[in-house]
Amino acid sequence: MNVPLLDLKAQYDSIRAEVEEAIHQVVESQYFILGPEVEGLEREIAGFLQVPHAVGCASGTDALLLPLKALDPQPGEEVILPAFTFFATAGAVWNAGFTPVFCDIDPVTFNVTAETVEAVWTERTRAVIPVHLFGQMAPMAPISALARARGAVVVEDAAQAIGARQRWPGPDAPEGAVSDEGWIMAGAAGDVGAFSFFPTKNLGGFGDGGMVSAHDDELAERVAKLRVHGGRQMYHHEMVGTNSRLDALQAAVLRVKLRHLQGWTEVRRQNACRYHEGLEEVEQVTPPSTLEGNYHVYNQYTLRVEERDRLREHLSGKGIGSGVYYPKPLHLQECFSELGGTEGELPVTEQACREVMSLPIFPELGEDRLERVVEEIREFYR
Ligand SMILES: *Cc1c(COP(=O)(O)O)cnc(C)c1O
Repeated sequence: MNVPLLDLKAQYDSIRAEVEEAIHQVVESQYFILGPEVEGLEREIAGFLQVPHAVGCASGTDALLLPLKALDPQPGEEVILPAFTFFATAGAVWNAGFTPVFCDIDPVTFNVTAETVEAVWTERTRAVIPVHLFGQMAPMAPISALARARGAVVVEDAAQAIGARQRWPGPDAPEGAVSDEGWIMAGAAGDVGAFSFFPTKNLGGFGDGGMVSAHDDELAERVAKLRVHGGRQMYHHEMVGTNSRLDALQAAVLRVKLRHLQGWTEVRRQNACRYHEGLEEVEQVTPPSTLEGNYHVYNQYTLRVEERDRLREHLSGKGIGSGVYYPKPLHLQECFSELGGTEGELPVTEQACREVMSLPIFPELGEDRLERVVEEIREFYR
């Protein structure tokens, strides 16, 4: 019984008829770029998040890049982000024309906090990017309060966190974004949110795709212009934008999948519970923690473990897949050497890079395969 880290074919099998019908309709319409399917998805995502604007684009990377570009970066202006994230977070900051400034993380959640952000704040800070890593939101109320007090913009990297939510403690929530039960969604808590529809994300397309969520009308309009060469009206360009359109086939597939997202998320959460119970007593392993008031969507189930590389070899020998997100922190990447990052500078990040590993958590995993993973981990440490 092999256990892959992810099995997209199993998911496709469960929704094949619905997806094929949606694709067929787009093919019949021959309307492939933006258009009604994309607008439909934008409307549905905006409604799901309780935000006024959602703008589809070509990838999660561009969903970060476009709003950062819309801020009109000036030389020397800085954006604070974690060094423990997928490269795209930092690449987008750099490519927009900002200087990335890396901060450390909380050892329990792997997320940035208001304290780790504040530790690297300077008078050149224009924006902060909390990354909701692995599917759990960073503490948004304190981060937003800090940014608001200092006149900076908050761009949430919600690429791994669609559907994640958090109880909002204070009165200063973005207008209309808190549900009757007191929850705020990932991508609705900051000024702007960035989502990815890369196939391995919780809402994955049949190729690349992304979405920007926004509260401010003008910022959303700038993003919408930047994705089509900087102008709403053809051949009239107010800004120099790019081609970062979402295509209708992706939107059609994503609209089908969006209807299943909540159900899939619930199964991911049940899987996490089972792992937790099964691994609780293994002292060499620290399962992920969810902070009070957070609804974790487990894009990854990421543990800290002793003897990580040997454990991964053991599992791999038994046909069990695992992953390491992320083995090398961003402040030590060669491409950012001119920023002067040094080893030891972000100790919590660097330790996480040495200790983390992720287990299969996808909704179609099933109890038997999950128990097998647990059993093999126990066996390794016995
Ligand atoms: C996947 C991901 C992105 C980039 O998304 P793409 O669609 O692959 O461009 C950005 N940030 C994080 C944290 C991600 O996991």
